[in-house]
Amino acid sequence: MAEVVLARVGKVYPDGTRAVGDLNLNIADGEFLVLVGPSGCGKTTALRMVAGLEEISEGTVSVGGKVVNRVPSRDRDVAMVFQSYALYPHLSVRQNIGFGLTLRKLPKAEIRKRVDEAAQTLGLEEYLDRRPRNLSGGQRQRVAMGRAIVREPQAFLMDEPLSNLDAKLRVQMRAEIARIQRDLGVTTIYVTHDQTEAMTLGHRVAVMKKGELQQVAPPQELYDRPANLFVAGFIGSPAMNLLRGELSGAEDDLRLNVGGQELRVGAGVLEQRPALREYIGRSVAVGVRPEDMEDASLAEATDGSRFTSTAELVESMGSDVMVHFTIEAGAVVTEDTKELARDAGSDVLGELETPHTVVVARFSPRTEVKVGDAVEVSVDTTRLHFFDLDTSAAIWDLPSEPAEEPAAETPAETPAETPEAAPEDETAAPTGDETGDEAGDEAKEEDK
Ligand code: ATP
Repeated sequence: MAEVVLARVGKVYPDGTRAVGDLNLNIADGEFLVLVGPSGCGKTTALRMVAGLEEISEGTVSVGGKVVNRVPSRDRDVAMVFQSYALYPHLSVRQNIGFGLTLRKLPKAEIRKRVDEAAQTLGLEEYLDRRPRNLSGGQRQRVAMGRAIVREPQAFLMDEPLSNLDAKLRVQMRAEIARIQRDLGVTTIYVTHDQTEAMTLGHRVAVMKKGELQQVAPPQELYDRPANLFVAGFIGSPAMNLLRGELSGAEDDLRLNVGGQELRVGAGVLEQRPALREYIGRSVAVGVRPEDMEDASLAEATDGSRFTSTAELVESMGSDVMVHFTIEAGAVVTEDTKELARDAGSDVLGELETPHTVVVARFSPRTEVKVGDAVEVSVDTTRLHFFDLDTSAAIWDLPSEPAEEPAAETPAETPAETPEAAPEDETAAPTGDETGDEAGDEAKEEDK
């Protein structure tokens, strides 16, 4: 087990594509860190640099206090778990789990012991003699996990390991991965584009956009205090509603005008967000989470902060009811929201540059609102989020905090280069093989 540190890590591919820039992360011993972001944000590239499958263009990666930039993948003592299980169809579960250890010529008794222990952890004892084709998707994924576990690595690196599973199995395996990681206490970096997976698994979650770290924080903090519009819109389902608004009034009577509708901003908001004072008389981006709105006829005593509109879509989820309505407020158009729209697959400009915005509210199941009804929506204004329209940064304190972690301390290169490091003439070149750490060896073995 070990701490993993990325210090000013960058990656430029040979064709000039910059996939990752100035990435600083300190992943503590035993921590479960999730890297999340839309497709193409550089999370897989970052993980592959830690694994040794991709050359590091800038900065350093250290595992257990040693810089591993020039250490070949197989000597990094990290184990990778991929989306594709890459199991050998002709080998039994036992042989598949122990394959890497057999290659490393560990004593048979030791292999047996480690495979038995892993099988127990994974609930695979009764399947050890089966072939992969006779296993369910979830069981196959467990075998792939088993291969990583028996290596007893310093860190697990997982690249979307659940994305091939159906929705129900994903939820089940998610809980299992969390349990296994807790039991083994192995430092884990987990890559996903699924924010629910990120929120439920990570001790901390690092959100990336276009190769850059946006924020790294425990899940609840990310949700409650998103650092910018991108994090605000990416974390949460349904997503935070983002609208343009104008702040007016005075400190003790702050008003927010959104599309001609005036909300009184709850007491205490300025105390929480002192920098908001600077925005009185100006336009801001306003964020409202769906659960911070309620059918006004069901809401407890409110301060009169309401939206009035017409219910355009009513989706009953059983536990709550999603009500969609339109507010005549311009959408928030910044680089961040364009990126969010792109990720959601919408026609970026067409969707964003309209004079009205569809808002989604999460009502209690006791609501009687139906499609076409006029709705009065009570808004908990103490829970509103505010962002600067020019910088996309959340408005909290002055000056706004930097999004990334403080630059990680770079462990000294020299001692780390010996004895683990590759000889001078050997490059830290990736194997380029999708199946990972011992993949090169395994692939060669396969060819025989
Ligand atoms: P996904 O979830 O779709 O895998 P990701 O966040 O993991 O996305 P990466 O695969 O790390 O993103 O890719 C980051 C950027 O680098 C993308 O713009 C991608 O097109 C680019 N990229 C990835 N591999 C290469 C390569 N071998 N050569 C050039 N560009 C690459």
